[in-house]
Amino acid sequence: MKRVFIDTMGCQMNKSDTERMLGMLSYLGYDETKEPKDANLLIINTCSIRQLSEDKAFSEIGTWGQWKKRGKDIKIVFSGCVAQQKQREIFKRAPYVDLVIGTHNIYQLPDLIKRIENGETRICECPDIPYGEKDIEIKRVKSVNAWIPITEGCNNFCTYCIVPYTRGRERSRLPETIIKEAKDALSQGFKEITLLGQNVDSYGKDFKDREYRLADLLTELNALEGDFWIRFVTSYPTDITDNLIETAVKLDKVCEYFHIPMQSGSSEVLKKMNRRYDRETYAKIANKVREMVPDVTITSDFIAGFPGETEEQFEETLTAMDELNLDYSNTAAYSPREKTVAAKWTDLYIPEDVKTERLRRLNEKNMECCLRSNQKFVGRELEVLIENFENHKGKNVVTGRTRNNKIVHIPCEKDLTGHFVKVKIIGAKTWYINGEIID
Ligand code: SF4
Repeated sequence: MKRVFIDTMGCQMNKSDTERMLGMLSYLGYDETKEPKDANLLIINTCSIRQLSEDKAFSEIGTWGQWKKRGKDIKIVFSGCVAQQKQREIFKRAPYVDLVIGTHNIYQLPDLIKRIENGETRICECPDIPYGEKDIEIKRVKSVNAWIPITEGCNNFCTYCIVPYTRGRERSRLPETIIKEAKDALSQGFKEITLLGQNVDSYGKDFKDREYRLADLLTELNALEGDFWIRFVTSYPTDITDNLIETAVKLDKVCEYFHIPMQSGSSEVLKKMNRRYDRETYAKIANKVREMVPDVTITSDFIAGFPGETEEQFEETLTAMDELNLDYSNTAAYSPREKTVAAKWTDLYIPEDVKTERLRRLNEKNMECCLRSNQKFVGRELEVLIENFENHKGKNVVTGRTRNNKIVHIPCEKDLTGHFVKVKIIGAKTWYINGEIID
């Protein structure tokens, strides 16, 4: 019996890669196990966005390495963004790893696994040029929402970000491949399709043979049969076109939700980050989305303590969150990443204690914004897609999301996972809203 365990770290893109790897491995006879001790093949799918998650990856495979040293017959694969970034260096730190496979190469996995099964060790496959995509089965994690990557990589080179180095230059997947994946997911019972990319709004810019952009893809997906919702993340502010917003409003299955990272409220910091907008431009875009998309939720990302950030510049971030009425933000303290431009500005690094304190204040502001945003919905009737059913402190509860991505908790005796229900919103907390089913 061949069993594979995959530990997936980081973003949805990695989770999607894991679903693809599991699909390919099933053809080699591998079943997935959630228990690393039961596996013959152990894969770590790493994230390099922060040092902490890179350190966690090495610590986890250290345990696997110990098992191997004690004679357990296992193969260890190191994949994902840290693999793409560090390549052969990984063998220095973890000599027991059998295969290092970069983000551009996952479609080569079956051939590489066969080679390590046949006794080859220390294979490193991480070329900079992406290996061609193959039509493969995807073993989706059972859920309501299917994530479908539409672009990979990024051309923006924000000065703090490792993605262009680990995922390469931006490439759009063919619409026919994406539509086929969406149809497959819908036929398996998925009720929501989320299109995924570092910068989804630039989808199609690299097609040489056609004029086809995100708005066209949304239109084709919206025309597929069935009851389902469509979302797309992440949007780069200045790439959001009027045509995209108008299309999103017009299409009934496309949800009223935009994730538009701002990163800082200070125009000077944004310039140092190499973001292609200033505070005013971002505000214009966010306000336009609010005006054009009724009931829209806008979420964002922010970094606290970017090199050289002054107290005044940090406070501009807090005021921006308020002024723009952002509904929710992902927050993080700046973490220097090797190879990036900002990592070289060591003399401008903000002391750890100051970064931590700024992150605390950023989180506090985020909580205020979330609660305010959630309170807007109290008394409203909204459609909710139920995502799970659980017993919480002795009470049965279903949890789902509204079209505008609000999490709703609803007392309910029945497991309604995968159903759309009409809900009256009766209360608001910081991270979710409470509702009651009305039909
Ligand atoms: S837009 Fe900037 S932050 Fe986002 S993935 Fe590209 S380089 Fe990184």
